[in-house]
Amino acid sequence: MRRPVIAGNWKMNPPSLDEALSLAAAIEVAAVAASDVTTVICPPTIWLAEVARVATGATALGAQTMHFEERGAFTGETSPLMLAGLASFVILGHSERRQYDGETDEGVGRKVASAVAHGLRPIAAVGERAEERRAGETEAVIDRQVRAALAGLDRIGGSGLVVAYEPVWAIGTGDAASPADAQAVASQIRAILRELDADAADEVPIQYGGSVTDANALEFFGQPDIDGALVGGASLKPETFGAILRAGQAAIGGDGA
Ligand code: PEP
Repeated sequence: MRRPVIAGNWKMNPPSLDEALSLAAAIEVAAVAASDVTTVICPPTIWLAEVARVATGATALGAQTMHFEERGAFTGETSPLMLAGLASFVILGHSERRQYDGETDEGVGRKVASAVAHGLRPIAAVGERAEERRAGETEAVIDRQVRAALAGLDRIGGSGLVVAYEPVWAIGTGDAASPADAQAVASQIRAILRELDADAADEVPIQYGGSVTDANALEFFGQPDIDGALVGGASLKPETFGAILRAGQAAIGGDGA
């Protein structure tokens, strides 16, 4: 049985360090109780070091992006060397970065390989846009994005890879995919992983992301190929995020700590 990975993507929130520390402290308490779930919070990079002092054991830290190079003339960027030792996960290829920051399939592949080379667990985010779904292109988009994201990995086994399926139209809209549709794509992703590395495919947690709340989380976690969630808005509300963590715990039949 795969251990669920439930990650909160705080994006450019909350607006102050004090609020970030209170949020992290509250989530740490909830994470202690959901001991069979890997709980990850991804605060803004500028606060990773401070939040690390509050997220003291049960919560793992993640970055929201990084550059693939270790150093150089890349204004505003953060390198994997800077994250190593501070974060253990990094979200790569989030649709907002693809949309607003020109992130490409190929660039995501370089970042995933770089993250793994630096001991960071990549959360490789993939997902189709609304117009792609309407045009019946979901399967082709997922195939292209997943293969590109993994193109730089020699092997998947031992890489710590997590894949997040996030239909773009479901992010921040309140219009989550149906659990059956999300499972269909997760199963497609699992089949690609199996083709690339048959021994490792069953190790990789596949998350669903897109308007996950405490009301729908359990149904997603009950799907055979969905092992957690990437959560945006609801990860800023400690009670809701705590309930999502409890749903992850319940889905694998654990009582928690
Ligand atoms: C996200 O940003 O990755 C996300 C899934 O956001 P939300 O949960 O708010 O839809």
